[in-house]
Formats: sequence, C-alpha cells, structure tokens
Amino acid sequence: MRIRETIEKYVFPPSLYCMSCGAIIDSSREYMLCDECMKKFSWNTGATCECCGKALGRARAGLCYNCMEKSHEFEKGYSCLSYGSREKAPILGLKHGEKAYIAKALGQMLCDRLAKAVESEYDGVIPWDIIIPVPIHISRLLKRGYNQTELIGAEVSKGLGTEMKTNILLRKRTAAKSGGTVQRRQKNIEGAFAVSDEAGKSGVLRNKNILLIDDVYTTGATADECSHALLSAGAAKVHIAVIATGSNYHSSSS
Ligand SMILES: [Zn+2]
Ligand SMILES: [Zn+2]
Repeated sequence: MRIRETIEKYVFPPSLYCMSCGAIIDSSREYMLCDECMKKFSWNTGATCECCGKALGRARAGLCYNCMEKSHEFEKGYSCLSYGSREKAPILGLKHGEKAYIAKALGQMLCDRLAKAVESEYDGVIPWDIIIPVPIHISRLLKRGYNQTELIGAEVSKGLGTEMKTNILLRKRTAAKSGGTVQRRQKNIEGAFAVSDEAGKSGVLRNKNILLIDDVYTTGATADECSHALLSAGAAKVHIAVIATGSNYHSSSS
C-alpha cells in the first residue's frame, strides 16, 4: 500500500463516510449509510417477484416480466435493493474501486434480509446447507485482488452461521461483453461456470440446498448458469441472494 493511501486510511477511516454519497457519518450508522441515503435507497420491501425477488413496482404480486417470459433454474431469489444511481455507487465502488471495506456493510445488509426471510418463511430454521459466491475469472481476481461476491458471502456466512465454500463452483471464462439483448447476454454466459472435478466426484453437493450469492441480478442469466452447474452436480435446489436487482421492465427494453 502506498504511503499516501495509508495516511488517508488512518486520517479518514472509510467507515466515517456514507458508502453511497460520501457524506460524513458516525460509525454507529447502519450499513455505512447516511440518513438521507438510508431514506432514499429503493429497498425491496414491497411486493417482490415470487421467483427472482425483483421489486414488482406497480404490480402487486406474482412474477416480474422477466420471470413470466422465462422460467429459471434456481428456485427463489432474495434481494435488498433496486439498482438505481444511489444504490449503484457502493456496488461499483466494491467492484471497481478497490473499496473492499464496503463488502462488510453490503454483506450485513444482505444477511439481515436473509435473516428476516428465515423468520418469516422458514420458522427460524435456516434452509441452506452451503453458501456459494458467484466466482469471477482468475484473470479478474488477479487484477482486482478479491472477488466481491466472496467478500459479501463471507459476511452472510458469518451472520447466519452457514458454511461458505469457494472451491466448488469455478468460472471457466469471462462473459464477452455486458449489455446487449437478453438473448445475447444469455449466449455470452453459456457454459461459463462449472463444478470442480473434485467437488463433482466427492458428492459434496448431493441433496444440498445452496444459497448462491451475487452482487447484482438483472435477467438471471448468470444465476441460471451457476444453478445449472450446481444442480447437474447433485444439488437439491438453489436459492439466490443479491444486493440489488434491476428494474421490472419488459426484457426487450432492458
Ligand atoms: Zn449518503
Ligand atoms: Zn422475477
């Protein structure tokens, strides 16, 4: 670490700034957020898609447009936020800004969301056997120094007391390009994930309920590819948990 960065970290500890807008906060603030961001964040606390967990907007119940058009490999999804400019800042800061400390706040946010689901949907009994973060390609890992979903997953694992395993699911290649049509995105990600030979042979996934962790959910292409690999290796079911979901638009427009 460079000396300037060390001094900055010492003089301006990152946790004293709101992780979204950068306003000065005190360390007691929940999820490293200032009052305004806490209030203005789009929390997915209203009606959400029965399948993927995306906020439904004006629709009151049922499935989002994306899930109406396409069924998924995973069974159910949980999320904290809808992805907008305010919500984007900490997620991108963690992903591209070398701000690994943000993972703690985001991980706690996701853990709280899941703990609520455990209480309301599973009578307080955690339904997941193994937590698996969506892996990034080794070239990205070397460049970034960490996998952001693994850092988030570690917080969730600590909070729920459910084991996280990072050596089961592998990323064979990176997606060619983000953006484009749903079909193109789906094509880009096809076959990008695999269960390691060792995990496949050991049967570690057999009849296990998996909680897959990612940072952002849009069309579910990544979640489906990962789920497909895990289910093919014997997992009983896959649930997904993400920090933020994209909007509930018709897929032709997203
Ligand atoms: Zn703020
Ligand atoms: Zn959905």
